[in-house]
Amino acid sequence: MLNTDNELPLPVMETFFSLQGEGYHMGKAAFFIRLGGCDIGCSWCDTKRGWDADVYPKVSIDELLSRALVLPVRSVVITGGEPMQYDLTMLTRRFKEEGFATFLETSGAHSLSGEWDWICFSPKRQGKPLPEYFERAGELKVIVEGPDDLLWAEENAQKLIHTQCPLFLQPEWSRRLEVTPLVIEYIKKHPVWRLSLQVHKYIKIP
Ligand code: SF4
Repeated sequence: MLNTDNELPLPVMETFFSLQGEGYHMGKAAFFIRLGGCDIGCSWCDTKRGWDADVYPKVSIDELLSRALVLPVRSVVITGGEPMQYDLTMLTRRFKEEGFATFLETSGAHSLSGEWDWICFSPKRQGKPLPEYFERAGELKVIVEGPDDLLWAEENAQKLIHTQCPLFLQPEWSRRLEVTPLVIEYIKKHPVWRLSLQVHKYIKIP
């Protein structure tokens, strides 16, 4: 895990105020922090520009809080990149001290740090997910670009500790026209799963 002195500034691709666009909390307003850096390398990644953390400015926790505190929401989503490349203990503590609910989007390939109200766990084949995420996941969200990913989804769902954890299948955006009918048919046969769409992309918000 990088950034062992967790008060160090973090590489930030962007911050923005928007609605959660996918998964269990879709439609809820939140402040987003997109951290730079990811070493997983999904071929279909929609944030490839974020893989190299070094090209992004380092932003202090104080600065991130000052951007958030002027907003009318007290929810912060930390996404990336892969946020768990960094020790986020202090970042989440400081936001929670200010009354924020903390949401994490992660592939689960790096050790978990931070205090989280909700973890959206989206395991990727390229980065073996760690056991702790199967215990802590608030939701399991598997990206589907083809039939093999349905097997990957089931493999991961079987490892979850909490059997009530909501399970989502989300068509990979660039293949959504081909894959969405496949996902719909799969869910009709296996209704423990739910469909997640990247609604923010359909309605063109960040
Ligand atoms: S884990 Fe996420 S950010 Fe990293 S390559 Fe895969 S889709 Fe992109």
